[in-house]
Amino acid sequence: MAQEDVFKKIVSHCKEYGFVFPSSDIYDGLGAVYDYGQNGVELKNNIKQYWWQSMVLLHDNIVGIDAAIFMHPTVWKASGHVDAFNDPLIDNRDSKKRYRADVLIEEQIAKYEEKIDKEVAKARKRFGDSFDEAQFRSTNARVMEQQAKRDALHQRYADAMNAMDLNELKQIILDEEIVCPISGTRNWTDVRQFNLMFKTEVGSTADGASTIYLRPETAQGIFVNYLNVQKTGRMKVPFGIAQIGKAFRNEIVARQFIFRMREFEQMEMQFFVKPGTELEWFKQWKETRLRWHKALGFGDDAYRYHDHEKLAHYANAATDIEFKMPFGFKEVEGIHSRTNFDLSQHAKFSGRKIEYFDPECNESYTPYVIETSIGVDRMFLSVMCKSYTEEQLEGGDTRVVLKLPAALAPVKLAILPLVKKDGLPEKAHEILNRLKFHFNCKYEEKDSIGKRYRRQDAIGTPYCITVDHDTLTDGCVTLRDRDTMEQSRVAIDQLIPMLEEKVSLTALLKKLQ
Ligand code: ATP
Repeated sequence: MAQEDVFKKIVSHCKEYGFVFPSSDIYDGLGAVYDYGQNGVELKNNIKQYWWQSMVLLHDNIVGIDAAIFMHPTVWKASGHVDAFNDPLIDNRDSKKRYRADVLIEEQIAKYEEKIDKEVAKARKRFGDSFDEAQFRSTNARVMEQQAKRDALHQRYADAMNAMDLNELKQIILDEEIVCPISGTRNWTDVRQFNLMFKTEVGSTADGASTIYLRPETAQGIFVNYLNVQKTGRMKVPFGIAQIGKAFRNEIVARQFIFRMREFEQMEMQFFVKPGTELEWFKQWKETRLRWHKALGFGDDAYRYHDHEKLAHYANAATDIEFKMPFGFKEVEGIHSRTNFDLSQHAKFSGRKIEYFDPECNESYTPYVIETSIGVDRMFLSVMCKSYTEEQLEGGDTRVVLKLPAALAPVKLAILPLVKKDGLPEKAHEILNRLKFHFNCKYEEKDSIGKRYRRQDAIGTPYCITVDHDTLTDGCVTLRDRDTMEQSRVAIDQLIPMLEEKVSLTALLKKLQ
């Protein structure tokens, strides 16, 4: 099946099974804004818990905060967002569609990479075990030609972005003969800058009202609380502050479902370190964060690092962790070495001294910062994309199963009486009342057992237990595994310790140690 079709199926599965709905659905939705349904909110909360606990529980030098969405307007002046939080936009005159010029060029670079990867895969198949990839890449004429084109484009693009040369960005699009995917034409407007922050007013009268912004990132809430937390928590550098919260961006292009939203959620952690040690910490956080992703078990080839071509003027290292979505490798998380830029700017604009006295070297300094910043919604999408599976069964049936990591699954256990009589529903409720303190359980008695299994497969429930007539006498239930569909008999008393090991967040967190 084409990847595009797979993605469409995932989007409709999300709606059909109560994961994600368009916002204000009965009014036909609102562009790039989505609501999470009864299963979606559970999955999302589990992702947030996995992140939060991996940061705050597993590190005794990381604490959390929850800052307000509204902040003093000067925050965004100091951070540079008022002047420079722009994306370069370009319109196609024929389709009337709007694009980000930088994204169009990055997709073109990805196309060269795809061509190279195809050549490499073909050669690997031809040469088998004796294949030497490094040698092939450095000697094959077709690969070398594509690499040269990619590198040249890369360089030209990086230069244009660093200089924010809008004419050059347009020229690259023309020279690369990039066409609008909708109209297929090259009838482009000039490239313009577009500020992504939403504005609103605080105060009740027009005179006294002042413009404030909906925060476009959660990070600034951490920076302005650095002194509060450091002092009240008696924190010693190096230490981190973590936060999960909503962020808002008036995105130019809003087409890939929850990949790019105008209201979304971020999980950010700012780690304050001694100047001069930041690159070592950057390396460490890069590895730690990739380990967090990989522990979910989606396979190592689902991830790659992408070092930034364009470093923000204040950053001295930056990388993205990209995930293999059905529409290509895409950024899910950014890890940035932000120097002391933010704290220094806030010191300058607020007039407050924002420093740390380091008793070990007996001096004061403005700490440097390593940031890890991940979008909850993008993470959610990546989990959905990797988990959605269609399986052909014997007899020609197809089964749709969400192979979610058990710790993230919205429902951990479905409790199903085989029939709606003979005391089985009562027994099933008795079991439910014991287990519900430990796991998110669902009780279902409607329809045949086969249909009920399918419904649980579709929302990713890792285990179902069936209560049958024997249960009443032997105290055992049938436990069915979502992925293998294997069934085994288990004593009711054994269920809690056995499932705890398989579905709890603790089991997942232990993999990080
Ligand atoms: P992009 O280049 O895709 O616009 P970005 O580099 O601007 O992303 P950051 O500012 O580094 O993103 O934000 C950190 C994380 O927040 C991203 O890795 C992503 O997971 C998430 N994020 C950013 N913008 C959005 C959005 N519009 N919708 C959903 N998630 C987002």
